[in-house]
Amino acid sequence: MYYRNTIDKQPMPIREIIRMGHPTLREKAALVDPKTIKTKDFQSLIDDMVETMHDAEGIGLAAPQIDESIQLAIIEFDQENDRYKIENGQSLVVFINPEIHILGEDSASYWEGCLSVPGLRGKVSRPQHIRVDYLDRDGNAQSIEAKGFLATVIQHELDHLNGTLYIDKLTSPQDLAYVEEFSQFIAKVDDDQSIDD
Ligand code: ZN
Repeated sequence: MYYRNTIDKQPMPIREIIRMGHPTLREKAALVDPKTIKTKDFQSLIDDMVETMHDAEGIGLAAPQIDESIQLAIIEFDQENDRYKIENGQSLVVFINPEIHILGEDSASYWEGCLSVPGLRGKVSRPQHIRVDYLDRDGNAQSIEAKGFLATVIQHELDHLNGTLYIDKLTSPQDLAYVEEFSQFIAKVDDDQSIDD
């Protein structure tokens, strides 16, 4: 007879997403030591983040949002959907120790949402052409270029690694609304561009 070892297994990959007010969301996250990237612990942390993001129906998640103050964030692009398509054809991008470079002067505003600021939408203006240099989950150096909406999504996510929330960058304090009121009064008249991550 054989007993499954239920102690070593950790059947709880979905992690709690911390919310605005939790101090970890305001810290500058620590750089990841590249030597640790291939460890089992680090790889399962990434897997947990993917599960947690799917469970919360977000398109991105940064490690500080699950109370891990390190330079790690994930974004899921959708190659079937023009709006969420990224040029390198990848669907899930794991950003470790990312550095953003702004490539163009143009900015655009979108209504953003955040799993750590649930129930709200706020309008933020951001540069629309960026490049990000980062390490992937195998520890290899990568570079990705993004324009438009995806440039906004990436900047929102990577801001979490610097202790910044989108509400710090509202185009105006008046450009903040509850999701229901946003849908009722704002989405119809403004560009219906909102994100949730
Ligand atoms: Zn967020």
